[in-house]
Amino acid sequence: MFDSITKSVYLRVSSSFDSNIGYLDCGEHKVLIDSGTGMFTEKLEQDLQGLGVSLDAITDIVLTHSHIDHVGGVIPLLKEGNPKIHAHKADADMINSGNMSPTLSETFGSRIPQFEIEGVLEDADVIDFGDLKVKVLHTPGHSAGSICLHLEEQGLIFTGDTMFSGSSFGRVDLPGGNARELVDSLKKLSEIDFQIALPGHMSPVIGNARSSAKSSYEQAKNWFRV
Ligand SMILES: [Zn+2]
Ligand SMILES: [Zn+2]
Repeated sequence: MFDSITKSVYLRVSSSFDSNIGYLDCGEHKVLIDSGTGMFTEKLEQDLQGLGVSLDAITDIVLTHSHIDHVGGVIPLLKEGNPKIHAHKADADMINSGNMSPTLSETFGSRIPQFEIEGVLEDADVIDFGDLKVKVLHTPGHSAGSICLHLEEQGLIFTGDTMFSGSSFGRVDLPGGNARELVDSLKKLSEIDFQIALPGHMSPVIGNARSSAKSSYEQAKNWFRV
């Protein structure tokens, strides 16, 4: 089920190995933030139908990073329709050249076919979806191509696997992870005035998300001693 967060922003909190999935209703643009593993696409379809949207109506998918629990769903969605895929350059350049290692699919014992990332993103880019503008914050640490997506007018950030609720934060022990970079990325988030954090896993932070980011930053700094 998608929960309504603001007028045009929804979040589907996952109860499986899937990542959480965001949905932005921007009129002409119908945007998913991350796509889950792709193992539960029928359920995703039902949940989107609850919002009056069909899978083939999705125009864009923005990936917070390329781990398989976030990108696997791109494959079935590309079969249903023709969404434009967006991801940070660090992941996009590799995937576009046929190197699927940023997905970690082999680490998790599966294979993911190559797909094309047309929207190659860099820090501070603003994706214009008409009704909503999405600013890209490059936040490496959990992975090299991790980004957070800032909806400045809504005071809302999709934090991917960088920041979680309850002072928590993403792991750095997977290939491409880096503790120093994660701490710096959490610091960057803690310096932004925002109210709502929609993470890639577990529950969102509704209200005073900046102070939650600050405590994730403090916890990570102590934990990694960097
Ligand atoms: Zn994840
Ligand atoms: Zn991840």
